[in-house]
Amino acid sequence: MEYLPLFFDLQGQPVLLIGGGDIALRKARLLTRAGARVRLVSPEILPEVEQLVVEAAGEIIEARYRDEHLNGVRLVVAATDDDEVNQQVHTDAVAAGIPVNVVDNPPLCTFIFPAIVDRSPIVIGISSAGKAPVLARNLRAKLETLIPPRYAELASLVGRFRSAAKLKFDSVNKRRNFWERVLGGSVAERVFAGQTREAEELLLQQLHTADADHQVGEVYLVGAGPGDPELLTFKALRLMQQADVVMYDALVSAEVLDLCRRDADLIYVGKQRDNHAVPQQGINDLLVQHAKAGKRVVRLKGGDPFIFGRGGEELQQLKAAGVPFQVVPGITAASACSTYAGIPLTHREYSQSVKFITGQLKNRTSDLDFDELAGSRQTLVFYMGLHTIEKLSKGLIVAGKAKDTPVAIVSRGTRPDQQVLTGRLDQIAQLQQKAQLPAPALIIVGEVVELHQTLAWFGDNEPAPLP
Ligand code: SAH
Repeated sequence: MEYLPLFFDLQGQPVLLIGGGDIALRKARLLTRAGARVRLVSPEILPEVEQLVVEAAGEIIEARYRDEHLNGVRLVVAATDDDEVNQQVHTDAVAAGIPVNVVDNPPLCTFIFPAIVDRSPIVIGISSAGKAPVLARNLRAKLETLIPPRYAELASLVGRFRSAAKLKFDSVNKRRNFWERVLGGSVAERVFAGQTREAEELLLQQLHTADADHQVGEVYLVGAGPGDPELLTFKALRLMQQADVVMYDALVSAEVLDLCRRDADLIYVGKQRDNHAVPQQGINDLLVQHAKAGKRVVRLKGGDPFIFGRGGEELQQLKAAGVPFQVVPGITAASACSTYAGIPLTHREYSQSVKFITGQLKNRTSDLDFDELAGSRQTLVFYMGLHTIEKLSKGLIVAGKAKDTPVAIVSRGTRPDQQVLTGRLDQIAQLQQKAQLPAPALIIVGEVVELHQTLAWFGDNEPAPLP
């Protein structure tokens, strides 16, 4: 380790900052955020810098640096482009035993500024020992996305209950167990969801009833998107990585599943067409059962849980059983497949609305309102329609939809083997009969499909045009 990371308490402490330009401004922001009283020395000072320092009860000295400016300060930061001044500041500070930083000049520093992720009171500093600041900043950007912005609130909440927990649990181990449960479970999730008051109540309740072995877990109904793992939300990923149990079905891609916590139990609950590995009631029961055993259960669903996902039914059951739950939306197939196929679902010229429709017809007979669907200037997206495509296209034509309306079938959208088949409404069933594109597949009907030719950008798996 070339540098020891330390956190300085600068509340109300004098810090010397030399320089009055943009770099000084950045440092002044940082120092005042940490409560320092900045003594700013420079012959020229930008008005923003001056204002900032004055508002934070600092001191402005419009002059060239002299060693007497060092009197009484805890830290020195030189942010000038004058090498001579920088060198002098360094020499004087070292002689006076005051930690010194010369911006962008590691040999003249006795301390360096890390890249900072601020979720005060949680603060993370990342340093590359001055060797690769860009790498440190990249890492910071990654951490920024991984750590929910409300981490700060979580830390304050824990702070408020720290003494109470200390009274309740007499050993460090017991306390650690308790906090691990709280911070990895529903209390933390409530905070991240913005429900701080509920989180506080829950924490209070858990503290009172704390018997670590008999607590109800929680179910997260998580939208896994259409297949490409990069289309997961941060929240989905976070919950997947802390799950004890993951229940998933056929629409969830292997790449997405791979991102679940390594030692989570993965349970396949089927759901390919007409082949329900576990029937819906069984799935509901399993969810309740695992949650009641205190587990954090992630129910992973393809696309969005509330779009043809029966998410509502599962939640009703959980509610009835008193199991707490949360829902995380996902990118639904219509949105993802159309995007990856270069088909905008709406367009100022061609289509002012879009309908998501199930193509799975009850009892396999037509029960869709084709008259309504045949209307012009709208886009139709059929889910689960691959096996009824002939009925669907006939129904639309009979209801008056033009025979040459363009149609696209997007098969295995967003996955490496995505294929797009396009054709006229009166021919698409036959084209698919020959092409046999595999499920899952989405059918898009409407003028916007024409744009596929010019806007497609993902993969070139288009099947060869038929003779
Ligand atoms: N909740 C899911 C939909 C479940 S219904 C969502 O929001 O996307 C199942 C249907 O979704 C499939 O029959 C198919 O029509 C569509 N589907 C899901 N993933 C797909 C994909 N990667 N490519 C094409 N269609 C997909």
